Amino acid sequence: MNDNHNHNDNQNNDIISQFFNPSESEPQRAEDFRTGYVAIVGRPNVGKSTLMNHVLGQKLSITSRKPQTTRHRITGIFTNEEMQAIFVDTPGIHSKEVKMINERMNQTATSALADVDVVLFVIDSLKWVGDDELVFAKIQNLDVPVVAVINKSDTIKQKGELFPLLEKLHNTGVFADIVPISALRGHNLDELVKVIGKYLPIAEPIYDSEQITDRSERFLASEIIREKVMRTSGDEIPYDLTVQIDTYKDEPAHQDPKTGKWRKAVTFVDATIFVERQGQKVIVIGDKGEKIKQIGMDARLDMEKMFGKKIMLTLWVKVKKGWSDDDRALTSLGY
Ligand code: GDP
Ligand code: MG
Repeated sequence: MNDNHNHNDNQNNDIISQFFNPSESEPQRAEDFRTGYVAIVGRPNVGKSTLMNHVLGQKLSITSRKPQTTRHRITGIFTNEEMQAIFVDTPGIHSKEVKMINERMNQTATSALADVDVVLFVIDSLKWVGDDELVFAKIQNLDVPVVAVINKSDTIKQKGELFPLLEKLHNTGVFADIVPISALRGHNLDELVKVIGKYLPIAEPIYDSEQITDRSERFLASEIIREKVMRTSGDEIPYDLTVQIDTYKDEPAHQDPKTGKWRKAVTFVDATIFVERQGQKVIVIGDKGEKIKQIGMDARLDMEKMFGKKIMLTLWVKVKKGWSDDDRALTSLGY
């Protein structure tokens, strides 16, 4: 530090600090700061959740190779000096409404399109299928700008491979912009954020710049557990699984009245994993409980990382027949 230098410059400091020293003045927010809502839609498995997580720089929405990983509406808040984009990650819209839970997920995804400022229509670089048509039908007459996001660009070998898709999208006349990205590799995400910024209205931020979601820890905890179960169990368990948080209790650091020893702050989480059949319960628990142990360990580590605190996690597995096709059960489980 050069004190002399600072001293000599003192006469200018008042003016300079107004502009450059956030600690001595109100935080300077650009007059054209933009804030708004961004819906992320697309068929299952195109990479919507991966996109949101990578833009936020933090894993918020669970992902897996299985379609239908995302079941709820998840909000992710991105803030920089110029804008605050409130992303709404949705379950994929798809045609197979075999069970009531699928229908609910479709409703969740469709209703996310109302009341947003811009819609991201996410598609896979290499695969345009029937369910893409279905989503396209839902977005083509919206009043808000729709940006086509061509994801998984890392899977493209030659640039030219994309041209037919680009042309097809362009010719629809529906899209305000078309942006190829790789959500997984983080390619072109800065560009996407800039494009989104163009369509957000000039407005004050709604959330604190530190906040990345409006969902509770309790909710995120159940999502993390669900992800671990989906990832450790094979194809047997696509929908037939849900997680209920039974206890979520923060215990502050305290002195044990008996021993006088200090105990660190810890959060106790008890959760029940519901499956549909006894056979699935056996799979989730695994040989000598080794699967459920792994699930618990992975989930606990993720929670500790995300919430920045120590977690004591207890998991239960129960069979609840027919929950994914039962209207009342769905409501009680938060769908
Ligand atoms: P969602 O159902 O649309 O939310 O899709 P997810 O975000 O859960 O991703 C589905 C699968 O696609 C996961 O296995 C991701 O790792 C994978 N994925 C997502 N983005 C990319 C990408 O840019 N490139 C590649 N190669 N895979 C991706
Ligand atoms: Mg998803």
